[in-house]
Amino acid sequence: MAFRLVVASRNTHKIREIKELTAHLNLEVVGVADVGDLPPVEEDGDTFQANARKKAVETAGLLGAWVLADDSGLEVDALGGAPGVHSARFAGEGQGDEANNRLLLKKLGDLPLEQRGAQFRCVMALASPEGEVEFSEGVCRGVIGFAPRGSNGFGYDPLFVVPELGRTFAELSPQEKNQISHRSRAIQGMLEILQKVTAEAEGRSLKRG
Ligand code: IMP
Repeated sequence: MAFRLVVASRNTHKIREIKELTAHLNLEVVGVADVGDLPPVEEDGDTFQANARKKAVETAGLLGAWVLADDSGLEVDALGGAPGVHSARFAGEGQGDEANNRLLLKKLGDLPLEQRGAQFRCVMALASPEGEVEFSEGVCRGVIGFAPRGSNGFGYDPLFVVPELGRTFAELSPQEKNQISHRSRAIQGMLEILQKVTAEAEGRSLKRG
């Protein structure tokens, strides 16, 4: 039987990306909404790491399960790293992706491309049922375009141009995004420990017969 890993997120795009990135492991990846009616964890930390830890540890404690939490966002050079941990609610609570993208374009105005550098950052925290935590981090650099392009992905994807490809994240296929994204780079650092945990769990269930 596959080892169950709960992803402490309600973002179906993120859960799908994590499933695809771990498809070669013997893992059953489920989102937190699939395992019960848990209260949302308040993301009130000042750093991606603090928020990822909080989501992973609180959810693991409530479920008694292994939990992977991802906290991520966009850091724009010309805005001193904003929106950062506030990426999801840049234009205000509940405003959504389009409003966030419009505000970002407004703030950057007609700054030239050389001054539109940005990066996506992702910190992942893996918590054991006992509350032990491991972290990994991934970054992907790019530039903010002048208008949205493409319809794949979510969030700031239509504005985030990968200079080497000349396309936005929203113009990449899911497989292409997964090869270079901040989330895939963060999960690479977590694969070894996920493999170890999976192997240990399989060993235990074999012993139980
Ligand atoms: P979180 O759910 O608190 O980690 O917030 C993540 C927010 O950062 C999302 O709502 C998006 O606005 C942005 N974000 C994170 N990862 C991505 C990505 O891969 N593409 C586009 N936007 C992203």
